[in-house]
Amino acid sequence: MHLLLSGLTLAFVFCSAFLLAVDEEAEEPQVIILLGPPGSGKGTQAKRIAESLKIPHISTGDLFRENLKAGTPLGVKAKGYMESGKLVPDELVLDMLMDRVHKPDAKRGFLLDGFPRSIPQAEALKKHLGRLTPIVINLEVSDETVIKRIEGRLSCPNCGAIYNKYFSPSKSGKLCESCQGELNQRSDDRYEVVVERLKQYHNQTEPLIDFYSKDKILFSIPGERDPEVIYKEIMNKIRNR
Ligand code: AMP
Repeated sequence: MHLLLSGLTLAFVFCSAFLLAVDEEAEEPQVIILLGPPGSGKGTQAKRIAESLKIPHISTGDLFRENLKAGTPLGVKAKGYMESGKLVPDELVLDMLMDRVHKPDAKRGFLLDGFPRSIPQAEALKKHLGRLTPIVINLEVSDETVIKRIEGRLSCPNCGAIYNKYFSPSKSGKLCESCQGELNQRSDDRYEVVVERLKQYHNQTEPLIDFYSKDKILFSIPGERDPEVIYKEIMNKIRNR
């Protein structure tokens, strides 16, 4: 009797392990692309979505800034483009992105923020994904709002607090409310750079809306609302896909 029970337990453990393995294999990696102009709130949404789905948030802008800070050869090459609001050439972006998506944490999928930004980048991603179909969320925000959100952004170099001179100004004017640090503007947030970033967006990135609409995998979401409402709407689209 005892032997029979042990045998049954073993068989149960074996079967469960097998089912688990099969289940894990059956689960398709999830690839999410966030599209939208600079300042549309992609970064804010991306963090929450990636956390909730337990997949890495891959921002090509952040990857370039890390390279810039570390003074790598890639950072040195990208610097001029970034500071003038131009797009970094596709071959530099693609090498960096492919390195990142091949890391083990991206096996279950990933969320792309700021990539692709041109048709050649989208074609390269499509080739890389093969049969895997991404879901594309397009955040819609007017040029006027983009300019106010970005050009108005001021941050504290001491504590990292962020203000906006139009929407959420510091009560102390140009000083941080909590630590009195002198607020400053990121160099690529200057008015003329924002205008160039928008120009690049309309010329190079906006055609991706058509590119992904043809495959019926794009969902447009109005981005000038409460971030919480936007987040819930995005998660609904992802879950009900
Ligand atoms: P972001 O923080 O996403 O607005 O990116 C900051 C800057 O990095 C952009 O203005 C570009 O110069 C560069 N960059 C980021 N992602 C890309 C991309 N996919 N293709 C080309 N340039 C990019």
